[in-house]
Amino acid sequence: MPSVHVNLADRAYPVHVEAGLLAQAGGAIRNAGLSGLRPAILSDETVAQLHGGALIASLEAAGFQPTLHTVTAGEASKSMSQAEALCREMIRAGHDRKSMVIALGGGVVGDLAGFVASIFYRGIPFVQVPTTIVAQVDSSVGGKTGVNVAEGKNLIGVFHQPRLVLVDPETLRTLPDREFREGFAEAIKHAVIRDAAMLDDLAALDASGREVPADLIARNISIKARVVEADEYETRDIRALLNFGHTIGHGIEASVPYGQMLHGEAISLGIRAALFLSERHAGLSPAESAKVIRLLDLYRLPLVLSASISTESVMEKLARDKKFSAGAIRFVVLEALGSAKVIHTVTADDLRAAIEHLRQST
Ligand code: NAD
Repeated sequence: MPSVHVNLADRAYPVHVEAGLLAQAGGAIRNAGLSGLRPAILSDETVAQLHGGALIASLEAAGFQPTLHTVTAGEASKSMSQAEALCREMIRAGHDRKSMVIALGGGVVGDLAGFVASIFYRGIPFVQVPTTIVAQVDSSVGGKTGVNVAEGKNLIGVFHQPRLVLVDPETLRTLPDREFREGFAEAIKHAVIRDAAMLDDLAALDASGREVPADLIARNISIKARVVEADEYETRDIRALLNFGHTIGHGIEASVPYGQMLHGEAISLGIRAALFLSERHAGLSPAESAKVIRLLDLYRLPLVLSASISTESVMEKLARDKKFSAGAIRFVVLEALGSAKVIHTVTADDLRAAIEHLRQST
């Protein structure tokens, strides 16, 4: 089975990727040295109904006595009040510092469950069992956990690395079409910042099917793992490269009510805007930009910004988590496909121009 090792000294962990792995999760968790811990599975109602039974059965077969705790599916569950509610529910179910959290679900559940694990009894181990493309290629690895507040997304949280990540590509079969396609925005991001050849592999994949090769997922995880190893806490300009497309993408995502636009859809628009700025600030060729835009279009991801979202709203929202210093912002651009860098010369006017560019058809 393809495995990626995330080398982070005493916080190192393996990521296993294999079709059918969910049914073997109990054994894998026991073999990872977590056998003395009682599992609290945190999930959302949709995923728990589809895949909770298989996970519970496999944990019980391996000698564990898991409890299951669910939240409503969707971004609104990534909140401080939900984290508190889950902690209290776990205490009432008898969990303590000899417990572990197992996150079963997409990025929402992973970020929330990881945060709960980081604060429950001042921190207990957790295992990620991601079930969306976003979570399998990106969010389950790297240790960023947290919740949203009214002032912005992901503003409260901690770094808490999982002890193990178990990726079963077969769980993707139950994803609705839109949720399936949106996840590829993060895979396309990985390709453009670090692995240009993967753009061709993504183009060759049948976007209407549900078959995602384990190797392709592992290749994405490797990219993320190598970046995280080099800059775990984002104190250098390396981990920031993963934010390619996210500055304007987050501004757009925050400008619409929860649930109207999926994360990957906002990031698709953010990538188009970042390509525009890469051409102007880093010498990316129009042909290279066009190749990425064609791929986003192949996955039917949005490329044109709706007139109902104003440029000033996006600017206001993005300024909440990005600080301007001497009139300019830290921004990730591409010099070429596969080669990203952080620059500090993008101004508010540049950002406005990039947002306005999204109003034009491709
Ligand atoms: P999500 O977790 O909301 O899942 C999308 C929808 O798919 C939900 O309704 C869920 O119930 C459903 N679903 C999940 N798995 C399913 C399955 N196998 N079958 C059927 N339905 C299924 O969204 P997401 O796109 O996975 O994650 C987005 C979140 O991830 C955002 O909050 C974002 O901030 C976060 N994120 C975090 C990181 C990180 O490094 N921590 C990186 C990227 C994104």
